Amino acid sequence: MTTDVAETPRIVKLADGLYVRQAVDNIAWIDMGEHAIVIDALEQPSLEGEVFDAMERTIGDKPVRHVLNTHTHYDHVALNAAFKGRFGAEIVNQETCRIPPDGRWFEGARRVWMFPTPGCHTPEDCCVWCPQDGALFVGDIFGWGLIPLARSLDRQTARLLEDTYARLIALKPATVVPGHGPVCSAAELARWVEYLRWLIAEVGRACSLGKGDRAILDLVAPPDDMLGWWRFVQWKHADSVQKVLSSARKGLLPA
Ligand SMILES: [Zn+2]
Repeated sequence: MTTDVAETPRIVKLADGLYVRQAVDNIAWIDMGEHAIVIDALEQPSLEGEVFDAMERTIGDKPVRHVLNTHTHYDHVALNAAFKGRFGAEIVNQETCRIPPDGRWFEGARRVWMFPTPGCHTPEDCCVWCPQDGALFVGDIFGWGLIPLARSLDRQTARLLEDTYARLIALKPATVVPGHGPVCSAAELARWVEYLRWLIAEVGRACSLGKGDRAILDLVAPPDDMLGWWRFVQWKHADSVQKVLSSARKGLLPA
């Protein structure tokens, strides 16, 4: 039997007026007083009715003025058209309007800041921060153990990931909402950076000792404290080891 928490969608209340529909793909909505903001817009257009109902139940029938997409992968934008059609919502992402390097603020009953964090997953990545609520939306930059890069892992991209995570952790979020799967906290962000460093060091060392791929996979078993991470043991850890190994073999990482 599956115990995958994301298989059963759940409405998670992060604060008054701030909700996430937590599932395999996450969507969030924020009560701004007179209007609402939506963050990310799922993969399946057929969820429109369910999402609108959940929004109405939780924050009432407020017009959605903005839909913020952390990036424009197909599994983050499916309901954009529905929000635009019903409310005339402005669709905000790096394709529709450039977000300046110092971000863009949205004002209402609370303040919401969307800011670019490019290159960790796609060139157009953005995160969204609600300072009053301590809620941080990171899109696919955090993937519960997945190396989020669409391009290859090398010294530069490893550094970029570390620097970006340091910026996110420095906000001191109480809640971190990834693009997919369970809501978490800054502790998981910090743990993942440690994990990546550990993988790079261990795999690099094993490679320089001339070990084969199979032996290396056995050597870097999933850490005990991460065994409960969402879908981590099932496939993410092995995928991450493969990525690090492939980069190490090409000499792209410090040995
Ligand atoms: Zn994505």
